[in-house]
Parts: sequence; structure tokens; C-alpha cells
Amino acid sequence: MTSVDSNKHKKARALKPTSRRPAKELCSECGLCDTYYIHYVKEACAFINQQIGELEEQAHKRSRNLDNPDELYFGVHQNMIAAQKQQPIAGAQWTGIVSSIAIEMLNRGLVEGVVCVQNTKEDRFQPMPIIARTPEEILAARVNKPTLSPNLSVLEQIEKSGMKRLLVIGVGCQIQALRAVEKQLGLEKLYVLGTPCVDNVNRAGLQKFLETTSRSPETVVHYEFMQDFRVHFKHEDGSTETVPFFGLKTNQLKDVFAPSCMSCFDYVNSLADLVVGYMGAPFGWQWIVVRNNTGKEMLDLVKDQLNTQPVMSKGNRKEAVQQSIPAYDKGVTLPMWAAKLMGVVIERIGPKGLEYARFSIDSHFTRNYLYVKRNHPEKLEAHVPEFAKRIVGQYKLPE
Ligand code: FAD
Ligand code: SF4
Repeated sequence: MTSVDSNKHKKARALKPTSRRPAKELCSECGLCDTYYIHYVKEACAFINQQIGELEEQAHKRSRNLDNPDELYFGVHQNMIAAQKQQPIAGAQWTGIVSSIAIEMLNRGLVEGVVCVQNTKEDRFQPMPIIARTPEEILAARVNKPTLSPNLSVLEQIEKSGMKRLLVIGVGCQIQALRAVEKQLGLEKLYVLGTPCVDNVNRAGLQKFLETTSRSPETVVHYEFMQDFRVHFKHEDGSTETVPFFGLKTNQLKDVFAPSCMSCFDYVNSLADLVVGYMGAPFGWQWIVVRNNTGKEMLDLVKDQLNTQPVMSKGNRKEAVQQSIPAYDKGVTLPMWAAKLMGVVIERIGPKGLEYARFSIDSHFTRNYLYVKRNHPEKLEAHVPEFAKRIVGQYKLPE
């Protein structure tokens, strides 16, 4: 089933939001169940009813071509480029391409509101989804809140506000549920601006990650797993700290990621019109995937604000991925000197550009496949999309 029946909608309005989470421990707290759209959860939830192929047909008029190597990995697309804002937005996660597109769409009257995520007054990492109606409100939502965020909890407000043209910014699980209820929202036009997402955590998990990884967890204002195989932390005083991926305390961090993210195969946000991330671009650049004409229209709005270059691909990830599978499984952590050395070597000879993105997809899909197989074997067949099965099938997995 690609979306929900409209005749159920009237019944849905009568329902009050509840704290029920039918996906149980796999719930990513996408926010749908905080609204009366919870009525559709069994069809819409990304962790109950995996339907990426059908929703690709709905959103892009076709599902991905599994025999095209780039579509197999990156989903339906017309074009991919690497880009940077000529004048980056201070305090954005990267250069602020996401915020700039949203602001442009609002200023030009293409949309009346933008679903995005600010943070609470008390906690810079605690997400607070809003429908922004001014550029200032969009700017205040810049930078990642690297925690599970209930973006869809504002869905009811859309209908109540009478808005007809909307932009939603979100990660894959949020966007899958959004696409499934899209026809029920009463909109004339929905634009979807997605980011890739992987290894998300709840707020307590984030604290554990910061405390096990950073020299000064309380002053971190921003962090990213970058293309140079290092985590880059930015601190309140403007200083930067880097920690090599291979030096992460895998044994302590194994349980930190949310079970939803350990069982997710939509790293690249397959159902967004336009995706803005970094992992398929050279170090320091953002990676843009235009999935359909709506996505092209959105990107065109900011093209004159961007430096761009074609995507590139270098190196061979396969051996590194194969070796990392048992190492991760056993929770191997290298001493810091060895991790730093390995980081330097892999940065020089390792995968770059699209090959780095494939490295990251392969590593996460193999790990997640094993997680689902061991923890939810009854879900394995239907929950893992065909494209992910093909990707995982390239590797030898432990039992
Ligand atoms: P900005 O202009 O700073 O805007 C950031 C936008 O993100 C804001 O509009 C805000 O509403 C939204 N946002 C913030 N937190 C959340 C959240 N928790 N859930 C949903 N939306 C949120 N890219 C990759 O290439 N590989 C990855 O592995 C990857 N992991 C990510 C994990 C998370 C949890 C998030 C939120 C993003 C991730 N990204 C990843 C995307 C990347 O980090 C940048 O967000 C993206 O490149 C946009 O940068 P920007 O400077 O243009 O964004
Ligand atoms: Fe509901 Fe979203 Fe959780 Fe699924 S992931 S149970 S739709 S809140």
C-alpha cells in the first residue's frame, strides 16, 4: 500500500494523540504518533511497514533502477553535485545550503511555512520542531540537533492553520511517514528537503557519546563525522577537536545508537525531492542529490549563491568494509596512537567522494542487517529493502 485511504481520515481526526508507539523499541520518535495521524501508523511507520519502493513511485513517478550502480546506492535521481555556499551561514551545520533554500522559498512565496527543528532554551541539543513562517525562525533552526526529533508532531497544526503550500525539512524515517500521509494533509503543494541520516541517538545516548569521545563534552556546540575519517567537534570557544573514527570506544558505544537507527536502510533519504548532505562530496563540500523536478526547482533558487563542482569518486572501499565488519561486531577499539596512524593512512589512500559515501553505506547496512537478523529475525525479509539486500550481499557476514 503506498499511502493511506482517505476514508479513514475522518475517523483519524476524532482520535486524540496518545503516547502509544506501535513500533515499540524500534520507534524513532518521528512525531507522527503525537498527532491524530497516529491512526495511519500501521501503514505509515517506516519501522512497521517498509515501503520505500512504492513511495518512490508516488514521489518520483518511478522506483530506483537497481541495475544502475549509482541509483542502487543513492536512490532515484536526476543529478548529483558538490556545492558550498559562497558566503556560508555562520553557525550552520555545514555552509547552510538547507537554511538558504528554505529562506528563499519563503521569501519568494513558494511556501507559507517550513517544518524545521529549533532547540529548546535550556538545551542546545534538545530538538523543538516548529513551523517557521519567517526567515529568522528558519535561521534559528540551523545546525543539526543530533538526536531523534519528533518533526511530524507539528502536522496537526498545518491543517488547523489552513496552509496550502509547505516545505518540510527532515531525515529519512520522518519523510517516509510524511509521504505515506501526504495526501491527507490537504496541501496544494508539498516540498520535501531531506538530509541523509545515520547513527542517531536519544538525548541520553548523545550525552554518553559526548562523554566517551570528547575532551570537553559540556562545551560541544556542533559535531560531524567527516569525510576525512575523523569526528570534528566544535567547542563554545571556537576551538576544534578531532577524533579518528578508528579511535572511537566502539565497545562502550555499541548500545548508544537508537534501535531504530540500527535497523534503518534509508540513509540517503530516498523520498525527499532534494537531499543535502556531505558524504558523497570531497572533504569540506556538501553533497546534493536532485531526485525530481521539484527538487531541481528548489536547488535552482540558490544556484547563484553556490560554488559547485561535479561529484567525483576515488579509491576502493570493499576491503576496508569487509575488514570492519568483524572488528565492529567484536567491539574492537584501537589504542589512540594506532587509530591516529590508521586515520592518516586511510585519509591518504582511502575512498573519496562517492566511494566514501558507498563505504559509509556498506558499513552501516551490513551492521544493520546483522542487527535486524539477530534481534528481529521475523522482520528481516520485509523490512530490508531489495536495494539494501543487494548491497549487503556483496560481503561475507558473521552469523
Ligand atoms: P543547516 O542550514 O545548518 O540546516 C540544518 C537543518 O537540519 C535545519 O533546517 C534543521 O531543521 C534540520 N535538523 C536539525 N536537526 C534535525 C534532526 N534531528 N532531525 C531532522 N532535521 C533536523 N549527512 C551526510 O552526508 N551523512 C550523514 O551521515 C549525516 N547524518 C546526519 C544525521 C542527522 C541527525 C542530521 C540532522 C543530519 C545528518 N546529515 C548527514 C546531514 C548533514 O549533517 C547536514 O545537516 C546537511 O549537510 C545540511 O547542512 P547545512 O549547513 O546546509 O544545514
Ligand atoms: Fe509512530 Fe513514528 Fe514511532 Fe513509528 S517511528 S511508532 S510512526 S512515532
